[in-house]
Order: sequence, then C-alpha cells, then structure tokens
Amino acid sequence: MTGSAAAPVSCTLSAALRQELDTLAAAGLHRQHRILESPCGREIQVAGQKLINFASNDYLGLAAHPVLATALAEGAQRWGAGSGAAHLLSGHLTPHSELEAALADFTGFARALTFSSGYLANLAVTPTLAGRGAAVFADKLNHASLIDAMQLAKTQGAHVQRYPHADLATLERLLADSTAQRKLIVTDSIFSMDGDLAPLPALLALARTYDAFLIVDDAHGFGVLGPQGRGSLAHFALPADPRLILMGTLGKAAGVGGAFVAASAEVIETLICRARSYIFTTASPPAISCALLASLRLIEQGDALRQALFARIQQLRLGLQALTAASAWRLPASLSAIQPLIIGPNEACLQLANALMEKGFWVPAIRPPTVPQGSARLRISLSAAHTPADIDGLLAALQALAN
Ligand SMILES: *Cc1c(COP(=O)(O)O)cnc(C)c1O
Repeated sequence: MTGSAAAPVSCTLSAALRQELDTLAAAGLHRQHRILESPCGREIQVAGQKLINFASNDYLGLAAHPVLATALAEGAQRWGAGSGAAHLLSGHLTPHSELEAALADFTGFARALTFSSGYLANLAVTPTLAGRGAAVFADKLNHASLIDAMQLAKTQGAHVQRYPHADLATLERLLADSTAQRKLIVTDSIFSMDGDLAPLPALLALARTYDAFLIVDDAHGFGVLGPQGRGSLAHFALPADPRLILMGTLGKAAGVGGAFVAASAEVIETLICRARSYIFTTASPPAISCALLASLRLIEQGDALRQALFARIQQLRLGLQALTAASAWRLPASLSAIQPLIIGPNEACLQLANALMEKGFWVPAIRPPTVPQGSARLRISLSAAHTPADIDGLLAALQALAN
C-alpha cells in the first residue's frame, strides 16, 4: 500500500512517518513484501500466479526437501517445539550439541557454535573480539550485518576502517600503519549483491604477516563451493590457521535457518563467555538442529546438486553475455549462484522486474542504498532445482524486454 492510498492519519507521529514514506515512494524506494502461497521452490505461487523463482538463496533446492521436513517433524516429536531458554541457561539440548560437533568436523575447525541467524552470528564475532585498542579492517561491500557489527565494535572503542572492495594494496597499507594490539580483517567470501569471490588466500597471507584475525562470512559459499560443499575456505584449500574465523549461514544452501561460527577453541570459548547476541537470546528450537543435521548429510552427498547448479550458472551467463553485448546492461564477473544484471537507473530496473513478473519470472530488483547509486540491478539467484528450460525462458523474456 502506498501513502496516497492510505487513510488520512491524525496522530502527528504517524503523519510524519507517512510523509517520510511518501518521500521514499517518490524516489522509487518504497518496499513491500509479497506473500508466497507455496513452499520455497523453483516454482512458487504469488497472488494466485505461478512464478519461476529467481529470488531465493535456496541454492541447492533443499528448503522444501522432504527429508528435511521429516527430520524437522521427527525432531519436534522427540525434543518438543521450543528450547525454553538461552544456551547458557537450560536451552542447549543434545541436538544443538550434535550439530555443533558435526559442523566443526565438516568445516575442519576445532569447534563450532550455532546461532539463531547469521545476523546474530555476525553481531557476536567482531564486537566481542574487537574491544578498546583493537583495529578492524572491513571490505566496503560487506553485508549489512557485518556493517552493523562494525558499528557495535566502534561503540566499544575499536578503530574501524573500511577498505575499497577487494583492494589488497590499500588493506596492506592500513595494516602496516596500524599500531593496534589486536587486528581483525572482516570480509564476505561471496559478496551478496555482486556474486564475486574475495581473494581469500591473499587475505590470509596478510592476516599471517600482520598477525590479524581473518573473519570470513561464507553465507553464500557454504554448501555451494569446495569439495562436498565445505565452503569458500575449502574451495581455496586454505590450511587450518588459528587466525581464521568462519561464519556460515544455514538458511541459504542448507535450506533451514540459523548460522554457525567455526574457529579455534579459544575463539569459540570467548564467544560463549562474552558474545551478547549469543548469551541474551533464546536458543533456536532443537528440531531446527535435527533438520540441519539431515541437511549437512545432503550437502555432503550433494555433488550432483552442485553440478546442476554450476551448469545452470554457465548456461545463464552465456545467454546474458550475448544479451549485454548488444545493450547498456552489464554483467559483472561472478562464478557464484548470484548473478547481477546491472541495469543502472532505479525506475528502469523496477520496470524490468515488474515486466518479468508478468511473464512468470520472479527476479528481484536491488536498488540503492543496498547497492551504489546508479547501479540498480536484477539479482538473479540460481538453484540446483532450476531446469535448463527455466533458464532459457528467463533469457528469452529478457531478450524480448531488451528491445
Ligand atoms: C544472509 C546473509 C547474512 C545473514 O544471515 P541470516 O541467517 O539470514 O541472518 C549474513 N551475511 C551475508 C553475506 C548474508 O548474505
């Protein structure tokens, strides 16, 4: 509902908000959610219309997998619906503990700790490790949750500097100039709006040279990259290092919800003792952990799913390359399931997304402030569940709209 359609408001507080909302709408920045009338999958239903879904992060097509739904249901039968308390009170049940052991084993770290969401996991790591006298070096294109974590670290006296995207030379200069006793480098692995991969081996080399922690947010790599889907660090075959801290989300490729941090025993014990977004929140329902244990097995055995996903990525990119060669649209380099098609102006991007929806394809338009001004884009996200015909259909629709 837009401002003009709303009933007049008498409260001055509401009236002020309505005016701000109208300003957003005038700038093409008003947002609303659409209700899915089906489970998450390659085809979904919205307002009675069937759409091919290019909007989810369900990269392996596991979100509605019957094995996971069964594990969730059986977990609830066995362990009940709720955990009843925070982890450090009585909320840490056997399934939580089993999941953490499985995640540590799967990622090759000494220990892992689970969180209710990736947002909470990111709020835990940097602010807990970076107090007064610490210096944090963060990629400019990091996810919003990492940016919020930086803000929190600042309030605790940490010195925060953001380096230009993937600019190793600038980062090295900042590290060399820093006299902080503790340094942290913070980066996405796959950047969520561009789909490109951070230079993790070079970042780890810098972390070693300057004795810094390297915090890697692998929200879009976990389950997708590396042997058995072990993630971005495994993709680069990076050796174990006590400076490495891996965050992974469990609501994307893993298809359920929640997140984890995997690291040395010292880091994990520090988070348990001091991370406020771990301590002061109710533990997730234990059945979630049961579903995630089943998901980890599907991920581990999911080579065929990953092959299908990468075949669809290649198919889409080949088609888009032909399309962008003959238009003002741009296709940045991305090897991941996130394929941004940069349109430019907000309004043109929004119109394109709406036209695609009329043709039966849901591709979200991503606009500023989520991405830089003038770089509004379609964020096409692919899944192993997509068929070659789904990709061809999207390409044909874009072709028709490009002319
Ligand atoms: C989705 C995402 C998060 C947040 O994870 P949630 O589990 O959805 O809270 C954090 N970082 C990145 C890069 C993400 O894409």
